Amino acid sequence: MNFMKGMYLIWPDYDYIDKAIDAGIDTLLVNLEINNNEEIEKIFKKYSSRVNCIPVRAWLGRDKIIPQEQRFFNGSVYYKHVQCPTNVEYIKSLLKQPLNLVNRYNCNTIGIDFEYYLADIKYYEEWENGHQCRCEQCKSLSEREQRVNNAELIRQELKGNKLYHLPVVNPYLWQIGEVWCNEFTYEDMYDYGKILKNTYKIKSEFNVTTDNVSGLWVEKFTAKDYLKALEKSIKSPANDGYWLYPQMRMSRNCYWRLEPESDWAKESLPDLPYQSLIDSIGSDSDPNFFIKLRELNDSIDELRNGLVYNIKSAIYKFFR
Ligand SMILES: [Zn+2]
Repeated sequence: MNFMKGMYLIWPDYDYIDKAIDAGIDTLLVNLEINNNEEIEKIFKKYSSRVNCIPVRAWLGRDKIIPQEQRFFNGSVYYKHVQCPTNVEYIKSLLKQPLNLVNRYNCNTIGIDFEYYLADIKYYEEWENGHQCRCEQCKSLSEREQRVNNAELIRQELKGNKLYHLPVVNPYLWQIGEVWCNEFTYEDMYDYGKILKNTYKIKSEFNVTTDNVSGLWVEKFTAKDYLKALEKSIKSPANDGYWLYPQMRMSRNCYWRLEPESDWAKESLPDLPYQSLIDSIGSDSDPNFFIKLRELNDSIDELRNGLVYNIKSAIYKFFR
């Protein structure tokens, strides 16, 4: 694949989306859970002819109450927030909106976020931990068979669209997906070893490989360090792309600016060490941020070439 330059959209701010696209961002990962329908339509209408627009559906989570007959049954409890792996109705219902979007806007990729988001169990993260559904439909199947079926049903219901999977390490999902949007580099610009450790495990045990695109959380870095981290990610042959994860530094209408007095804002703001707009004036920001981002993106071919890069790349291929 071409080196992907992605950006996740949550509380979209159109000025910042435009600046990012002008600076070379070529893929938008559009959150379907928090953005409202009107906003989602606007993003696809405005940008799907210019860049790769990918609707991203969260698969599990405390906010999803699953109908009784679609729930995971552990032998005594029907989990309210985890689906029965072989239930196709659940898969269909979650893919309805993203399929509708990609069909209408001629896109070809759907993102699925498999993080557990406080659901009853970390079903997709803990694929080695013995989570076997014991409902009527599943009870004759081993856990492995259930997981294979689950991935195959998802693949079928994607109707030929590509899958970008966030952010879990899971051989069954990697088998049906194109790109792993990882979060190991969210806060740490140097830790590519973690990525290779995981790709090596899945490759050696399951013979499955995937392209990898690294997420970098904007609020965790100063503007200067963020650009450094992006450069680092471009230079790493462990990566096939990067994705920006901005919550408030590229949005004037993010939750924390609109609802600063809410409990959630008060609780979560301390986790966001840098909060100013990324291109404002200040010690953490840089008014030339997007010019520098453009320069960085323009130099990708150069940065991913040369003797050292090519030797590293040949070695890394063994691990991924
Ligand atoms: Zn089941």
